[in-house]
Amino acid sequence: MRGKMEKTEYLTSAIEFLGKATEEILDGRTPDRFPILHFAIGTELLLKSLLQKINPTFIYKDTSFKNCIRLEYSGLKIDKKNDEISTSPDADTVSLRSAVQRYLYFSEITNKNANLLFHLDQLRGSVVHCSPSGEELKKGIEFIRSELYLILDLLIKEQAISGIVLNRELLEKAAAKQREAKFSETMEALRAKHLKIYKSKKDSDRMIGDFKLWKLLESDGTREVECPACGKTACLTEEVEYDYSSGEISTLGLIPKELECPHCGMKIIEYAIFDYFGIK
Ligand SMILES: [Zn+2]
Repeated sequence: MRGKMEKTEYLTSAIEFLGKATEEILDGRTPDRFPILHFAIGTELLLKSLLQKINPTFIYKDTSFKNCIRLEYSGLKIDKKNDEISTSPDADTVSLRSAVQRYLYFSEITNKNANLLFHLDQLRGSVVHCSPSGEELKKGIEFIRSELYLILDLLIKEQAISGIVLNRELLEKAAAKQREAKFSETMEALRAKHLKIYKSKKDSDRMIGDFKLWKLLESDGTREVECPACGKTACLTEEVEYDYSSGEISTLGLIPKELECPHCGMKIIEYAIFDYFGIK
C-alpha cells in the first residue's frame, strides 16, 4: 500500500489544477479552453483521490489481480514474462466519467449531480477534440461558474476533504445566481397559477371582478395598474415614503404597498415581488 492516504498525490494535483482554473476564470480575459480543461482535470483528480481512499484499485480501469498485486507490493520484482502482474497500472486509470460512475455509490452529492458531472466530461471532450467557438467556450465557463463550483464545494464538505478551499467570491456569486433563478421560477409559477384562475372564470364572474375593482379603487391612495398575472386592471395601494436623513422629515414619493387583482386573485405585498414584476 502507498501508506497513509490523507493527502494523496491525486489530491495535491487536484488542488493545483482547480486553483489554476479558478485563476483563469477570475481573470476572464478572453474565453479560452484552459479554464474548462483545468477544471475538468482537477475534478477528475479529486474524484480519483476519493476513490483511492476507498480502494486503491478503484482508480484503474481494470481492477483485476494484476493491478492489485502491484499496489500491495510496490517493491516487488516483476518477472517480465509474468503477464499476470501489471508493471505499470497507472497507465490505465479511469476517465472522469468512470470516476463519477464509480464514486456515486459512495457519495450522495456525486449521485445527485452525476449528470452535471458527466456534462463536464463531455465539455472537456469537445474542448479537446473540436474547435469550440468563443460563444461555446463562454457558455462552458459559465456552466462551471454557476453550477460546478457549488457541487464541488458540497462534495468537499460531504467527504470532509482537508487542504482544499474553493474561491469564496466564485462560490458566493454562484449561490446568489441560484437563489435568483429559484426566485424567478417561483414568481413565474405564481403568475401562471393566477392566469389560469382568470382564464377559467365565467363571464358572470368576470363582471363581479369589475365591480370589486371599482369598490377597491374607491379607497384613498389607490390607483389602477396592469395585473402582472392576468393583464387585466388591478388595484395598487401606495404609501408615502419619507426621508429622515436630513434631520427634518420630507417626502420622497410613493412606494407600492399592496396590489390586489379581483380578476385573478393575485395579491402582492412584498417589495421583492413588486420589483420582480416591475411595479413602481
Ligand atoms: Zn390579475
